[in-house]
Amino acid sequence: MLVADNIARLEERIQKACDRAGRKRGDIVIMGVSKFIPLEKIEEAYDAGLRCFGESRVKEAADKFNVFLESHKDARLHLIGSLQRNKAKNAVLLFDCVQSLDRDELILELSKHSCKLLEPLEVMLEFHTGEETKSGYENIDVLLKAAEMVLSCENLKLVGLMTMAPFTNETDLIRSSFRQLVKARKELEKRFPSKENWACLSMGMSNDFEIAIEEGSNLLRIGSAIFKDE
Ligand SMILES: *Cc1c(COP(=O)(O)O)cnc(C)c1O
Repeated sequence: MLVADNIARLEERIQKACDRAGRKRGDIVIMGVSKFIPLEKIEEAYDAGLRCFGESRVKEAADKFNVFLESHKDARLHLIGSLQRNKAKNAVLLFDCVQSLDRDELILELSKHSCKLLEPLEVMLEFHTGEETKSGYENIDVLLKAAEMVLSCENLKLVGLMTMAPFTNETDLIRSSFRQLVKARKELEKRFPSKENWACLSMGMSNDFEIAIEEGSNLLRIGSAIFKDE
């Protein structure tokens, strides 16, 4: 199956979910999650219209995207996987946005290295909302403190929140996970009222993006539904 065909089918499902939820397709961005995917396929996704890509490892992302981003100036690359502190320096140079900001020491490390950038580094705070998943801030109190810390770093620009729902067929659990993120955003926005800091709600993957759309996601992180072969 061609990447372009996968994207076309994905588009149909996204449109249907938008119709059901009374939302506009134009308010939702598809990120192609390209971890383990070779550059040729990423090119195919770009040619089919995708402009936003996500990788979970700094080294793999650098190997593929240092070249790709040079020749595709309008493409954007986000880090969505757990970041080790000693990789923060390289991450800052490569990624347009770090979605997986999940602990305070990382905030300071990213801030330190971002001072060399021309513009602040975009970041999202990852919130832990599913039982099985491990990453992300554990509760609203630590999330509020983390937000305060990021907002005090002039080299960082807070643009939203990210979560991963548990990997399960139980839609209630998935929905509850997404609702926790929406609830967290409300609290954060109440405390730090700036729309642009909370503009992005990154939730929904290949197996749960329709629920994520129903619950308000505006950034879908889609890997297998775009890049699978069969
Ligand atoms: C791999 C990954 C995705 C994409 O998963 P698929 O099920 O292949 O769509 C999304 N988000 C994160 C954080 C990931 O690690």
